[in-house]
Amino acid sequence: MGKCCVAGCSALKVSNERREFIVGPHTIREGDFITLDGGTGEVIRGEVATIAPAMNKDFKELMTWVDEIRELRVRTNADTPNDSRVARGFGAEGIGLCRTEHMFFDAERIDVVREMILSDTKSGRERALAKILPMQKEDFKGLFREMKGLPVTIRLLDPPLHEFIPQKPGELEALAERIGVSFDRLKRKAEMLHEFNPMLGHRGVRLGISYPEIFKTQVRAIMEAACELMRDEKFTIVPEIMIPLVGDWKELKYVGDYCRDEADKVIASFKAQGVKKVVYQIGTMIELPRAALTAAEIAKYGEFFSFGTNDLTQTTYGLSRDDAGMFLKDYLDSKIYERDPFAALDQTGVGRLMELAIAEGKLTRPDLKVGICGEHGGDPSSVEFCHRIGLDYVSCSPFRVPIARLAAAQATIQWPRKAKPSKKR
Ligand code: PEP
Ligand code: MG
Repeated sequence: MGKCCVAGCSALKVSNERREFIVGPHTIREGDFITLDGGTGEVIRGEVATIAPAMNKDFKELMTWVDEIRELRVRTNADTPNDSRVARGFGAEGIGLCRTEHMFFDAERIDVVREMILSDTKSGRERALAKILPMQKEDFKGLFREMKGLPVTIRLLDPPLHEFIPQKPGELEALAERIGVSFDRLKRKAEMLHEFNPMLGHRGVRLGISYPEIFKTQVRAIMEAACELMRDEKFTIVPEIMIPLVGDWKELKYVGDYCRDEADKVIASFKAQGVKKVVYQIGTMIELPRAALTAAEIAKYGEFFSFGTNDLTQTTYGLSRDDAGMFLKDYLDSKIYERDPFAALDQTGVGRLMELAIAEGKLTRPDLKVGICGEHGGDPSSVEFCHRIGLDYVSCSPFRVPIARLAAAQATIQWPRKAKPSKKR
């Protein structure tokens, strides 16, 4: 977002009513100045003098050297046309991760999404999905236009459905009234969706197994967007459709088969309109240890792998990414961890799984495309590791793209690859 941020600060006690937060002996009131150093995580009382960063001539020249040297490609994680434009300005070479759920959270459509989730029947879900389809299609067109000529990886819905249901008192009542469903029914359904450990629950590919209509609608929206742009605006787009949280090749085969079917149906319907050759790929994220350990089988059913190292770190360590902030400092202070494993890739453990997955995946699919889209894709030490283990690209948030490009060039100088990577994106 281009905003400095300190996240996971559990020492902070925030009071909405009193418009203040308290940390240790300090009380900071609404309107008081504080300064954040997003690099170090420091929060400083008062206003520190700053300068606005600028892309001056020296920076641009440095980046041209960087691009001549580096072998790793650098993509971005972006879900909106605006983020994509910013990232392109920073030199991103495509989108490595579009999290489609962010499009579902949009204020104007969240109620339709909720209607879909709260429906008890497939036909009810399909009715709501029919309303979502044109909205998603416009979203994808926006991304494809910004990334004209570059690859775009779109991930199908990942989070558990309860995340879309309002939790605060009063909100559920208001929703029941808006969508014309009884409050009791809504409450029952919300309770049914409750999970004790949603991160390991009904999310990712598991949603695609229970509710194929959700993924099919998304695939239709992606392919119709690509075909309409080819027909009307005459540029080619190769969508990469990504299936999250796969741990077993049978999941990928089951979901991949119906996604391919749906994509091919869309392509066939555009033939008569002059859209002849449409290429797309279906691949998967590697974010569970079992996926890495069985990569040779999984690669048979996916044309690319993208390492979701946020989840892969979480599941390899057995460390909740949402709760680790509470005790991580103790680990860092006592030097058990040198760095936060969610910020800098754990090369010995998580990295070993990645190396194994690449080697085994390429055994069954030698031209397997491999990238990373976890937050580590913008961290210099992790970028260096990704270069060394032979990834094709890293993908990071827009504002980290320049540092990833630089880190990729530094890695190339230090660790020249024996075999040049293919020019294919
Ligand atoms: C990941 O797990 O690394 C990832 C990119 O997915 P998300 O952060 O959305 O779970
Ligand atoms: Mg993930």
